[in-house]
Amino acid sequence: MMQTLEARPEARKEATERYLQKVGVKVLPTTDSAVAEAMTMYQSFSASRRRNRSSTNGLGTNEKGQLGQWGRAWEVDSFSLVSILLLLCFAPFLVFYFVMTCDQYQCSLMDPLMEVYTGKTTPLDIWNQAASFSWTAAKIYAIWVSFQVVLYMCLPDLCHYFLPGYVGGAQEGARTPAGIINKYEVNGLQSWLITHVIWFANAYYFKWFSPTIIFDHWIPLLWCTNILGYAVSVFAFVKGYLFPTNAKDCKFTGNIFYDFMMGIEFNPRIGKWFDFKLFFNGRPGIIAWTLINLSYAAKQQELYGYVTNSMILVNVLQGIYVVDFFWNEAWYLKTIDICHDHFGWYLGWGDCVWLPFLYTLQGLYLVYNPVQLSTANAIGVLLLGLAGYYIFRMTNHQKDLFRRTDGNCKIWGRKPAYIECSYSSGDGAKHKSKLMISGFWGVARHFNYTGDLMGSLSYCLTCGFNHLLPYFYIIYMTVLLVHRCIRDEHRCSSKYGKDWKRYTDAVPCRLIPGIF
Ligand code: NDP
Repeated sequence: MMQTLEARPEARKEATERYLQKVGVKVLPTTDSAVAEAMTMYQSFSASRRRNRSSTNGLGTNEKGQLGQWGRAWEVDSFSLVSILLLLCFAPFLVFYFVMTCDQYQCSLMDPLMEVYTGKTTPLDIWNQAASFSWTAAKIYAIWVSFQVVLYMCLPDLCHYFLPGYVGGAQEGARTPAGIINKYEVNGLQSWLITHVIWFANAYYFKWFSPTIIFDHWIPLLWCTNILGYAVSVFAFVKGYLFPTNAKDCKFTGNIFYDFMMGIEFNPRIGKWFDFKLFFNGRPGIIAWTLINLSYAAKQQELYGYVTNSMILVNVLQGIYVVDFFWNEAWYLKTIDICHDHFGWYLGWGDCVWLPFLYTLQGLYLVYNPVQLSTANAIGVLLLGLAGYYIFRMTNHQKDLFRRTDGNCKIWGRKPAYIECSYSSGDGAKHKSKLMISGFWGVARHFNYTGDLMGSLSYCLTCGFNHLLPYFYIIYMTVLLVHRCIRDEHRCSSKYGKDWKRYTDAVPCRLIPGIF
């Protein structure tokens, strides 16, 4: 059938017209360019239909073709496959290597390699010297995760009743590719506050445990977080096959490594409210982030009798970022993590292990290498961090406000300009959307990432320039956000088609005006 169509332009045109009628396009193309564009749509639709024929999630091929238009990749290219296999095999060792170098080599990334190279030590010696799994760490971690589950599931949000401007309680997420709108209980700020009140009450009054507890069990805790990270990822993978929360929002590429890593289910849930993505993304890892930094500060105090200004800067700047996250948790429901990413190892293991261990490297480094910055340097780092945060927050806020009010708002004192777009969801329904080209969204297409990167750089700069390890964060964030930017734009281009092209013509740069 496809060969016949490819060989006969008339047959292709007829098929195109049939397809347009089928997807609900009322006006048939009359100009050559419109016909060409519609044919391209038909071909990409047919191609995705052919690709997905072997998939097994119970959807009709037709539906899958349409879902594939703006979800995560349905076809795995060899570059993605190799990257995934490398990450699955080496990411856990990379995390271990970073933490181990601090524990045994004062955070020098090169020293262990040189010692192995010169025969002074062996990888096995290094492995044997590192702390191992311990039941104490397992108990601490089990209590921690259970406590966060209780706060998440059993305490409906009260903060929105008394904190002016805070949006909490039951909130709606964005429309999924299958056309579903999920509800979430937004109570992250409350969980963060309760956890930190208990932390400080313990540190200054009850003294049930030492505030250095996290640092003191850091490598054994790495084992525990890996166990949970893998357990959750495997469970989510099996659940996607056997009892998905919503079969229409599942995605099967036919490649099990890709499906395991990038996820099958879009919004796996247990019961009505336990949402895997919101819990693992937003609770044990991010709430722990500020506690881990506090534990590092306490360790500096214990070891040296003082806390350096660099450690205070790390605690303050990253603390602002974390509190911002929880204050804006309702907004977070509309970000790529929740709106577009499926839940697999990338999010499950990443949230349990990668985030708490690698996002906190600066504090860990400063325990082993206390850096006291000059006043001028400290002020410079603070200003960079605050400027980055301001751009990050304002850019995100502008989009949120714009989308919430459907463009009926003021951005930089004026009614925002935008490009009107349309797209179809997997159920075949047509929807309208708007892409703003005012405010920071007129400066670059992802200026929120630019602000995030400025903030990330400021955390690294607190550590001075003696070692590379603290700079891993800015390198990683640059790769993550540039990749995310390209991935998102690819998705938006599939979703909005020619309207996206009009948007990129109006705002030509991605991150830095005039450069990229
Ligand atoms: P964005 O908030 O930039 O969301 C991108 C989506 O917004 C697009 O898919 C599109 O969705 C919509 N959109 C794009 N352009 C416009 C426009 N001009 N007007 C209106 N809507 C538009 O991306 P993320 O969710 O990735 O990031 C959110 C924040 O989280 C960022 O600041 C980022 O830096 C941060 N982040 C931090 C990470 C960390 O590890 N620290 C990791 C990832 C993100 P639609 O389909 O609805 O049109």
